[in-house]
Amino acid sequence: MQDTGSDIDALDAYEDILQEVLAGRSEGHRCPNCGEEGLDCRADEAKVRLECRKCGRFFEGLLA
Ligand SMILES: [Zn+2]
Repeated sequence: MQDTGSDIDALDAYEDILQEVLAGRSEGHRCPNCGEEGLDCRADEAKVRLECRKCGRFFEGLLA
């Protein structure tokens, strides 16, 4: 798999999921990278972490 380095696209892809997780839906999301379900979504008061159990790609966002 090739890493295009387009982090802006990645951020865009994770943005929708991020909003869902923050709205309380942390289950059943698909990995924007490999397309598999099984995205591990954790949120606490400081940050959100979305990690794919299949390919290991993750996104971490700090909450304002
Ligand atoms: Zn994945």
